Amino acid sequence: MSLSPMMQQYHDAKQAVGDALLLFRMGDFYELFHEDAKTAARVLGLSLTSRDKGENPIPMAGFPHHQLDQYLAKIIRSGHRAAICEQLEDPKQAKGIVKRDVTRIVSSGTLTDDSLLDPRASNYLAAVCTRPKHPDRVGVAWVELSTGRFSAAQFSRGQLADELARIAPSECLVAEGLGELVLADCPERMAITTRPAWSFGRQAALDVLGRQFGSHALEGFGFTVHAEDDPLDLAAAGAILEYLIETQKSSLEHIERLLPYAPEETLQIDSATWRSLEITQTLRDGRRETALLGVIDRTVTGMGARLLADWLCHPLTDVAAIDARLDAVGELVQHTPTTTAIRQELTGIYDLERLLARVTTGRASPRDLSFVGRTLAVLPKIKAKLTGRASPKLVDLEGRIDLCGEVRGRLEQALVENCPLNTRDGGFIRAGFHPPLDELRELMVGGKQWMARYQAAECERTGIGSMKVGFNSVFGYYLEVTHTHRDKVPPEYIRKQTLKNAERYVTPELKEYEEKVLSAEERAKQLELRLFTELRDLVASASKRILSTAAALAELDVLTGLADLATSRNYIRPTVVAEPVLEIEEGRHPVLDALEAAGTFVPNDCRCAGGARDGELGAGEEKVPNCQTSLPSPQPPAPSPSLLLITGPNMAGKSTYIRQTALLVLLAQIGSFVPARRAIIGVADRLFARVGASDELSRGQSTFMVEMTETARILNTATHRSVVILDEIGRGTSTYDGLSLAWSIVEYLHDRIGCRALFATHYHELTDLAGELPGVANLNVAVEEHAGKVVFLHRIVPGAADKSYGIHVAELAGVPREVNRRAAEILAQLEAQHHGRQDHVARGATASAATPRVARNGHALQLTLFEQTNHPLLEEIRTVDVNQLTPMEALMRLQAWQEKLTESP
Ligand code: ADP
Repeated sequence: MSLSPMMQQYHDAKQAVGDALLLFRMGDFYELFHEDAKTAARVLGLSLTSRDKGENPIPMAGFPHHQLDQYLAKIIRSGHRAAICEQLEDPKQAKGIVKRDVTRIVSSGTLTDDSLLDPRASNYLAAVCTRPKHPDRVGVAWVELSTGRFSAAQFSRGQLADELARIAPSECLVAEGLGELVLADCPERMAITTRPAWSFGRQAALDVLGRQFGSHALEGFGFTVHAEDDPLDLAAAGAILEYLIETQKSSLEHIERLLPYAPEETLQIDSATWRSLEITQTLRDGRRETALLGVIDRTVTGMGARLLADWLCHPLTDVAAIDARLDAVGELVQHTPTTTAIRQELTGIYDLERLLARVTTGRASPRDLSFVGRTLAVLPKIKAKLTGRASPKLVDLEGRIDLCGEVRGRLEQALVENCPLNTRDGGFIRAGFHPPLDELRELMVGGKQWMARYQAAECERTGIGSMKVGFNSVFGYYLEVTHTHRDKVPPEYIRKQTLKNAERYVTPELKEYEEKVLSAEERAKQLELRLFTELRDLVASASKRILSTAAALAELDVLTGLADLATSRNYIRPTVVAEPVLEIEEGRHPVLDALEAAGTFVPNDCRCAGGARDGELGAGEEKVPNCQTSLPSPQPPAPSPSLLLITGPNMAGKSTYIRQTALLVLLAQIGSFVPARRAIIGVADRLFARVGASDELSRGQSTFMVEMTETARILNTATHRSVVILDEIGRGTSTYDGLSLAWSIVEYLHDRIGCRALFATHYHELTDLAGELPGVANLNVAVEEHAGKVVFLHRIVPGAADKSYGIHVAELAGVPREVNRRAAEILAQLEAQHHGRQDHVARGATASAATPRVARNGHALQLTLFEQTNHPLLEEIRTVDVNQLTPMEALMRLQAWQEKLTESP
């Protein structure tokens, strides 16, 4: 079947863009055809029609061109990509079929339009490279198109999910056929784009990276490339560049370097911890405002908000680097009026990073340029406020703010106050900026005045008082005469159109002037466009300096925001040290402290210290004793435990306490002050948080298996420098199983890892461990009983809890009184049995509810025999073949069993 030339053009364009929805410009509409049209009908709600309604109708759907932004947003949100195929010439002037080509491919990872982006969130495009011959390694690269920040690293296969969760790309490139592999590790809302395998090839990557950065630049950035190497990180980076070149069809000059990412320089937080600590969004409803980020974010610019999120994703581990930030925040806290003034000025700046991305990719509007100018105009005031600051970081920021005076001057001279969003209708260049433009404008205005005079003169001459000059796009200017005056129309008037009540005429003079006016208008628009392009190129040529200034402004926004947070919420500067200690006095949970009524949050202390276990010391490291503490103290420091076991009733505040400790470590390591009266925080290399399965069941996806897999990861990867918080671990299985696991996990953390660990549990039996393991201490949450009522004080105190108060909680929750009364009876019976070692359980109480006896006997946990149905001894008795035993053998078996039983009373 032969295609019409236009449909041929469509097919050629579609071929080139693969699975992106092709938006094919036809006059005032963007049209989609074939499968794209069906998809668009489904996801965009467009009505499906058809073209060539003959034998082979082609499915078609479309929307008016001015609604492009709105439909692009919908396309991206639905997880698709869009290719925009524009008309490259004016249809009126086209000879034959209008030239068209794809000018841009829009995907979630390459957005630069403000209307499609969240100003306070980064938008990363990532690529993952794998090779069958290296199944354990992956290369990952990621870029923020708006800032040009481009990084790459190699990870072990097992780290991929955590790293993708940390980067949170909105789009990820994978080689054809390998999507499955990445999808398994895919954060929610990440679009997967498959790319040809060659674009991940070694040589293709080195070529494209060489073209972008220069052939020897990679070594300079810190990557090593040997002839025999297959650097997966560079292969991923190459695939990203290749994709950007193909889709952006514009300059990528602002991507100037590729940064090697070194995970060891940041506090490692895996994805489970990330979710569980609710760092950037809450577990229940995914909200940012009530997550840690939302509560500490006092930034006033989008750039600052994005940088703060980035800091939270990459907390530091280097004490000097953390101190540099803390010094700056400290100085800003001490000089509140200056800080407030800087923050006030920062509210006047626009998103330079995103503006510059549009400038360098050729998509900036006149309004974008005027916003760059306005932002540059604020810089001298900000810079002045930074002069004379003492902390090296603030001094450095002052130095990095480049006023870009000549760019600012030019933009201010050139652009009018309220610039339009596009160049189409002109009118954005100031009068007086460019004399030839002024002349054309005078001609336009003059022409219009002539038109008015002509109308008056013609009315006078013909005696048709109501005659008017009008304009339409078909035949330009005309004179309109109502039918009542038809007989007065002079013969030289040329009739063009007849309406119901009037007729329209043109005259040679009118046409002559029209020519002048219209061509002046057209030429003025062309000239403005040229001037605009020059201005845009001027800004683009300064993009390095402007982006570096933007980065300094973002950092200043974060630091002043942290200072504002510290002042308004009464945070203090933590002392950050390299030793794995934790000394927190009157610490508060940053989120609850901010969300609950002032003064209601009960602060708590926390004191613990990690210590290297034998065989774990690195070269040149000294063993840190468990008891080490750096708090100045008149007496020899009391030994600090490494593991704190927190028991107490449900709802007492155990989770809150252990989480607040983890969050304080995190805050300190991003260089923030912390909510406490005093804090010494030893830098952690890894931070882990796990919640027992049943606590996470509400998410509908966690199982005991997940809980144990995650726990396994902690036990396998935590070091004595890590901070681990475990909340009700073991709860996802039966009491005995859970208790046994919790017990041996505590032993392992204590004996083998020696990390700072906070373990909240409802297994009271675990508290016996404090007596046996020197580095374990018991804490519990104080509870007051008053007139049969329980009051949770939320105060953490030394020692083990003696009751669980579950029934009181049930009462608080509105469980019928009768149920609670019966539960209290059963509890009393069970407790009596436990103390009197009775062998049976009361009606209604199950075997698993009875408390097992545990003893730390050669690291083995032993449980009361007959409450278990699968005890090994029972199994032996069950399976022994009595007929095959001699009387002597039978006696010996009996004796052996008896001995085993005496070991487990
Ligand atoms: P648990 O883990 O012991 O079941 P949570 O830590 O979940 O208890 O705390 C239950 C509730 O108690 C919290 O939602 C909070 O409202 C309140 N709470 C906890 N700790 C404190 C505190 N230190 N000060 C004030 N309220 C607290």
